[in-house]
Amino acid sequence: MDIKDDASFGDGEVVMVLDDKRRGQIIVLKAGSGSNTHNGMIDHDFIIGKAEGYLVETRKGKHFRVVRPSISEIIELMPRGAQVIYPKDLGQILMMGDIRPGLKVLESGVGSGALSMTLLNAGVDLVGYEIREDFKNRAFNNVEKFLPKEALDRYRVELRDVYEEISESSFDRVLLDLPEPWRVVDHLEGVLRSGGLIMAYQTSVGQLEQFRAALAKWRYFMPQTVEVSVRPWHYSENVLRPEHRMVAHTGFLTVARKL
Ligand code: SAH
Repeated sequence: MDIKDDASFGDGEVVMVLDDKRRGQIIVLKAGSGSNTHNGMIDHDFIIGKAEGYLVETRKGKHFRVVRPSISEIIELMPRGAQVIYPKDLGQILMMGDIRPGLKVLESGVGSGALSMTLLNAGVDLVGYEIREDFKNRAFNNVEKFLPKEALDRYRVELRDVYEEISESSFDRVLLDLPEPWRVVDHLEGVLRSGGLIMAYQTSVGQLEQFRAALAKWRYFMPQTVEVSVRPWHYSENVLRPEHRMVAHTGFLTVARKL
């Protein structure tokens, strides 16, 4: 369902319910239906028609705050199989990859669909190549369940090995999150348009070296690799300091232009 700000919650809408410790759960509202939480059943009919911020009571008498989730909250809470790319890296991908509405993008592998959701939310036309059927279905189901219906018109996932062949042409962007992205660089002629960007998310240095070598071999222009550190801060009365723990390493992001 399309979301209208300031409107009350509607049947079919995606909401997040938060317990008193601010632990969230994503629910797709359906009239007459209910959702189990660790603190008892929530009847959807209690939420439908209420305004954002409503405090709903479960059948056990516990209270949950109801809000509309952000895309990063949806990604953090949605069902996943494969390891997903974290929001801190997803945000950087949107900037480094210059992602905007209407671009034709190839993504591989698709995994649980965290990157797919981010790209679709930014308005691209997306084709995914995924080698495993269970992940293909998981990603598709996540998009179908948690994004506005029109996103499905811009999304197609094919069950394919991207190392073998890419049968479509003229993509504006190619985004890779799989073990050996350099094997894709070898057959991008005609697949990625001139001036288009290739981007890879990689978790270890050995993989990164091989990818950079492939980019150099094919004379990709202005390659750039970064990692993103996000340090959350703690705030309570009289105490303002960095949190003790942070996610120190996820992966490296590399982008380059094809000329
Ligand atoms: N970026 C995804 C996670 C991808 S995990 C997300 O944000 O959710 C890596 C995925 O690559 C896995 O699903 C794996 O099955 C897929 N994969 C690995 N090798 C592949 C290949 N040769 N062709 C297509 N997909 C592949």
